[in-house]
Amino acid sequence: MSAARKRVAVVGVGTMGSQAAWRLAARGAEVVGYDRFAPGHDRSAAGGETRIFRSAHFEDSRYVPLLRHADALWEQLQQETGRELRRLTGCLLMGPTDHHQMATVLESIAEHGLDHEVLDAELLAKRFPQFRIEDGDAAVLDRRAGFIRPELTIQTAARRAEELGARIHRYTTVREIVPVADGVEIRTDAGSEHFDTAVVTVGPWVNDLLPDLPWEVDIRRLISAWYVPTTDAWFGEERPAFIRTAPTHFYGLPSPDGVSVKLGLSRALHRPAGDPNRLDREVAPEELEIFTELIGRHMPDLNPDPTRLSVYMEGYTESSRPLVGPLPGAENVVLLAGFSGHGFKLSPAFGDIAADLALDGTTPRPIDFISTLDRAEA
Ligand SMILES: Cc1cc2nc3c(=O)[nH]c(=O)nc-3n(C[C@H](O)[C@H](O)[C@H](O)COP(=O)(O)OP(=O)(O)OC[C@H]3O[C@@H](n4cnc5c(N)ncnc54)[C@H](O)[C@@H]3O)c2cc1C
Repeated sequence: MSAARKRVAVVGVGTMGSQAAWRLAARGAEVVGYDRFAPGHDRSAAGGETRIFRSAHFEDSRYVPLLRHADALWEQLQQETGRELRRLTGCLLMGPTDHHQMATVLESIAEHGLDHEVLDAELLAKRFPQFRIEDGDAAVLDRRAGFIRPELTIQTAARRAEELGARIHRYTTVREIVPVADGVEIRTDAGSEHFDTAVVTVGPWVNDLLPDLPWEVDIRRLISAWYVPTTDAWFGEERPAFIRTAPTHFYGLPSPDGVSVKLGLSRALHRPAGDPNRLDREVAPEELEIFTELIGRHMPDLNPDPTRLSVYMEGYTESSRPLVGPLPGAENVVLLAGFSGHGFKLSPAFGDIAADLALDGTTPRPIDFISTLDRAEA
């Protein structure tokens, strides 16, 4: 069957699903998307106005070719739609010089010739007075980095997919995905529809929809907290996103409106989310203690009373590497799950890879390290 005539279901039109729908529709597939809410909602893994985009990867340099592919597609989606989805303000990776993530980021920069600056503690303190720099600290400024607007991106990708012919069923929960001899059946409360292939991108609901998944995806509850600066230091000419590696790993983003700074924590500090349909969206005062501590130690010019708190969910695999590829025993079902806190920046590339796998059964992109094929651990 030609790619142009393939019928593909996209189950979950969130971060990955909206990009997959765009890439599939752009290639002439007949695309039908389903989402339990509507694209751009804030009840799942996306929301809170900003996500970090980086070119250098401190976790694993194998992501860099995928980030390059994503980078080109970010530009393409912006050009096709005329929307500013991403702004390149830079990203500072800060922390002790001898921290292993400093070494990995410098390796990934050297291996791929990425645009960057290395700053010692003195330079860092002078140029970025909003941070309290400690002895032995250094930073790497990734220049092809900055922030992405998550809600706008999802809505823009979904609308672009619709302009290219995709249909999206909003407020429609997929109850079951049933592989059949010549494809796959998608079951909702309204009935059943037949497709050649399904791309499954349900984020934190992956264990609900696919209870027999052979890998563990641990769904965690993530708090984003916004703080207002007490001085002008935060909103000078340079407004990079930032990540601190140690002693506590956390990150932050100056808000695009120049009013506040959003902070977030790392995996080890997130509580289990429990049932994704009953996410606890209240933040208890004791959950804020760690944020107050971090502000006192590293960013004393932020007022430690938060002006906004939001709660989201994300699925983590054991290795923090996502699951991308066919579902075991169901080659017509392409799974994308477990993005472990770093999927947004890569989402156009993952959408494109999903389109490759759904239409051609294979992808030219180097995804062996995240593929579901021959994967023992999660
Ligand atoms: C607070 C926070 C901060 C983050 N910061 C960054 C960052 O700075 N940079 C970065 O790159 N990444 C970041 N991430 C990670 C990134 O946001 C996620 O990896 C990414 O959004 C996951 O996308 P997804 O498509 O898997 O899930 P989602 O975007 O949640 O999409 C899943 C969709 O499936 C729908 N759905 C679920 N079940 C069904 C069903 N049965 N039927 C129909 N629809 C269904 C949901 O409604 C939802 O729309 C962050 C994540 C969080 C939570």
